[in-house]
Amino acid sequence: METLLIWGLVVLLVGAIFIPYLIKFRKSRQVFVQRKEEARAMGIDRPRAQYPMVDRSQCIGCGACVEACPEHDVLGVVWGVAEVINGERCVGHGLCEKACPVGALKVGLGDIKTRPDIPILSPVNETTVAGIFIAGELGGLSLIRNAISQGHMVVDEIARRSHKNTKSDLFDLVIVGAGPAGISAALTAIQHKLNYLVLDEREVGGTILQYPRRKLVMTQPVEIPLYGWLKQDEYSKEALVETWREITARFQLRVNSGERVDSVCKINGHFDIRTSRAAYSARHVVLAMGRRGTPRKLEVPGEEQPKVMYSLIDAQSYTQQHMLVVGGGDSAVEAAVGLARQSGNVVCISYRKSSFFRVKKKNEDAITTLIAAGKLTALFDSQVLQIKPKSVVIQCKDGPREIPNDYVIVQVGGIPPHDMLKQMGITFGGEMQPIR
Ligand SMILES: Cc1cc2nc3c(=O)[nH]c(=O)nc-3n(C[C@H](O)[C@H](O)[C@H](O)COP(=O)(O)OP(=O)(O)OC[C@H]3O[C@@H](n4cnc5c(N)ncnc54)[C@H](O)[C@@H]3O)c2cc1C
Repeated sequence: METLLIWGLVVLLVGAIFIPYLIKFRKSRQVFVQRKEEARAMGIDRPRAQYPMVDRSQCIGCGACVEACPEHDVLGVVWGVAEVINGERCVGHGLCEKACPVGALKVGLGDIKTRPDIPILSPVNETTVAGIFIAGELGGLSLIRNAISQGHMVVDEIARRSHKNTKSDLFDLVIVGAGPAGISAALTAIQHKLNYLVLDEREVGGTILQYPRRKLVMTQPVEIPLYGWLKQDEYSKEALVETWREITARFQLRVNSGERVDSVCKINGHFDIRTSRAAYSARHVVLAMGRRGTPRKLEVPGEEQPKVMYSLIDAQSYTQQHMLVVGGGDSAVEAAVGLARQSGNVVCISYRKSSFFRVKKKNEDAITTLIAAGKLTALFDSQVLQIKPKSVVIQCKDGPREIPNDYVIVQVGGIPPHDMLKQMGITFGGEMQPIR
């Protein structure tokens, strides 16, 4: 009897410890399985560039990588093994790799020969077209630190190959893009006394300019050529933008802002670069265009109006306005939440799916609270039909609706510049190598 009692107590004790753990484990597994399926259905489970590669035979499923990732839903634990849930969200911080206690995870591009989204590059980042180099995120690796290092590396290589240039109308190199990679390339060109020109369709700063106001940017120490070290672990967006402005002024960088490069063609051993304003000739080209590409458009009548925007940097600039946000990802939800918190705004979000299942928990909670409080209207299963000067027409489940509108923020993703690279003759993974 006594033994039975002891055994009963042992079973109860073990049950009390393990059953809650098992329930929690099952629940979290179900959440990750569901999120993985949803991400797969949306086509966003696959990485955009680098991603965490898990060695399943070594992974112990502790979830340290999931906890460490600042971008959240990139990783999850499914059936006791870490797995990529939302590959597109991997920014490449590499904190998951550091956090893994058994070294079962590496952040990288995998076998690029099998990846049609990654251009094939030599060890010095030369493309399959001799003389065209890639620096920064366009090559697949994100992070400011990588962009700066690669901008420096490719121009060092160009300097090594360059001989005295006597033609004033022939640049040693033209750099496309004035983000961290392009700026670093320009500074290295100055170091080597090369004749260079930077062209950017927007302004100096690159993707950083598109970050929301006061975003904290995580960096790892990196040396900016001529300028010195970026030493801190974190900078505000504004501090980084100020650094690029200071560099541009101090070193009098030759940058043409607002000039889009449309084509690059090799003619008689030199490159002919056609832009929205002019044509240039160069011995080498450095493509530092990033991967964000051009924002995807709605392709509806009225979209050309200046009230339609493809990013929202400062929600506080809009008060007492009728705002429509289009999209259902994190950027769209963050924009809608930010706008709904400003005084007097009437905010509506239109999304073609039936719920916000792609977004981070924090964003989901914020938007659900605002919808419940009547501060924001969500139109699911809806599609914008027309944008008029003072209203928008939206196809909803119950038919078309016309609502008052002052501004439209479109957040439906971007188209990377891969087609343009292919037109230059650059080969991507999974394709045949052309003869140079
Ligand atoms: C939301 C978000 C958060 C991030 N957080 C971090 C972080 O915390 N830490 C970190 O290290 N990294 C972060 N990153 C990644 C980082 O911003 C990028 O890796 C980095 O900016 C890449 O630099 P780049 O010079 O290669 O390209 P970009 O910064 O993208 O610059 C490319 C430039 O090329 C120009 N361009 C493009 N096409 C053309 C054309 N046809 N003609 C002329 N100009 C053109 C663009 O206008 C742009 O200025 C984040 C990215 C995002 C989107």
